[in-house]
Amino acid sequence: MKNIIIAIDGPAASGKSSTAKRVAQQLGYVHVDTGAMYRAVALKAMQLGVESGDRDAIERMAKTTTVRLEYDDAQKVHVMLDGADVTDAIRMPEVSKAASDISAVPAVRDLLVREQRAMGAQGGIVLDGRDIGTVVFPNAELKIFMIADAYERAVRRAMELEEKGIYADVLALEREIMERDRNDSTRAHSPLKKADDAYVIDTTRLTIEEQTAFILSRAKELLA
Ligand code: C5P
Repeated sequence: MKNIIIAIDGPAASGKSSTAKRVAQQLGYVHVDTGAMYRAVALKAMQLGVESGDRDAIERMAKTTTVRLEYDDAQKVHVMLDGADVTDAIRMPEVSKAASDISAVPAVRDLLVREQRAMGAQGGIVLDGRDIGTVVFPNAELKIFMIADAYERAVRRAMELEEKGIYADVLALEREIMERDRNDSTRAHSPLKKADDAYVIDTTRLTIEEQTAFILSRAKELLA
């Protein structure tokens, strides 16, 4: 059986990671949530008090940072920052904005893109992020661009956070999501952008099962 690369990009909270995880499970592929990697670097900067505007300090920090994704026996992913498990800490709402700011720094992107390419070199992988189909793997066999109405995305994010015991205001989340999309779409390096050959899926009125099924059927056509 061929081992393809599936790239899922799109704006914040459009359902990329939960869909990518299911697609990977069904195909027996590895799932890489690249946003988690940017969040980990942002967390380190926050812990060290390094401002995202201080490019030199961020560059120096990036040179001595390792971000790895490790999978335990239950296939649960652990985000490891310099050897420490930061899986839960990176989901705090304040890390989202910091991740969006720090991800505009080329040295940070270089570090993480290198790691992502190494993980995907053999195929058999589903990666989700902002630049997977355009920059990280422009030759990915299957590319998806997921979008959804901003209010709907905020509601979903609020529900996800609630499951973790974090309570957030939906309208504040909607504003944060739109601000982050603007930041991510307008940066000079690797902006959030649909690849020309990506399928667009609007998930506003789709269930997770429906969006997963769409991607799986495209993948199976390629694997047939
Ligand atoms: O996907 P998630 O919302 O967790 O990503 C957090 C932030 O990381 C995004 O807002 C974006 O700025 C950045 N990111 C990126 N490139 C990726 C994945 C995430 O710039 N491939």
